[in-house]
Amino acid sequence: MPRKAERIIIGETSITYLIDGVGLFNPEATMPAVDWAANHDCLEESQLVLPFGSFLVRAGDQKILVDLALGGMDMKVPGVAHMKGGELLQSLAAEGLSPDDIDTVVYTHLHVDHIGWTTDVAPVPNAPEPKAPSGLTFARARHVMTEAEWRYWTGEAAGELGGPDTEATIKPLQDVIEFVQDGDTLAPGVTIEVTAGHTPGHLAVVVHDPSGDHSESVFIAGDLFHSPVEIADTVCTFASDVDPERVRAVRDGVLQRPDTVIAAGHFTHGAFGRATPVGDTYTWTPIGHAPTAG
Ligand SMILES: [Zn+2]
Repeated sequence: MPRKAERIIIGETSITYLIDGVGLFNPEATMPAVDWAANHDCLEESQLVLPFGSFLVRAGDQKILVDLALGGMDMKVPGVAHMKGGELLQSLAAEGLSPDDIDTVVYTHLHVDHIGWTTDVAPVPNAPEPKAPSGLTFARARHVMTEAEWRYWTGEAAGELGGPDTEATIKPLQDVIEFVQDGDTLAPGVTIEVTAGHTPGHLAVVVHDPSGDHSESVFIAGDLFHSPVEIADTVCTFASDVDPERVRAVRDGVLQRPDTVIAAGHFTHGAFGRATPVGDTYTWTPIGHAPTAG
């Protein structure tokens, strides 16, 4: 991967974006309401380029992974997307860590590009020869999500394309999964914020400096945002949003927060940045590599 790890540091806590792979998406199919002619700067050669990855949060003696990316698959959906992953453990090793060093895995939601490394079998939809996983990749870690998310994908949306595979993801998790609620703390300064809309149990992870020395916090947004186009055009939504109206309302609330760095893993040109109000919309200012938040 040509892209090097991006990192934000607030006080003693660091948040690092670990790359797993990338997807090339047909913009008209994935975000049909966007005026792409006016927003071509968000595209590369007419395609929406969405990286897949995981945020590593090191807070105190705790090491947390937010989402588990796509996993080792190379999948084409004709006319819609070409998705390729598989680099996450190498990105983790580059940080000097092995899977057994991870204390907590937290899922923002269970779409296929956020769960890929749950086991050693990437959940390829409709795989011709599905393999049985041999165990959890992060065997020592707690695995947490909201109860609403688990119930949705094991209930009304079970087996839906784009969600978790029963063999690769649901069965290995069912005896270990722990549910978290809005306001729960994963480590000092690391809290859960329920942000339902993209999926019924979607959550965000908010990181602040527990010493209080730094006022700025980092909002790990999951799939509240996929592209900076959603910051400039606050009305547009993504094809896989389960409840687009709710997504808009939650997104508006996040954009209005002061002193917030947004961490958006799917953004083409860098996961970290700030949204600044301009008139009745916002502009996105990416933060470069290895910055320190104020
Ligand atoms: Zn996603």
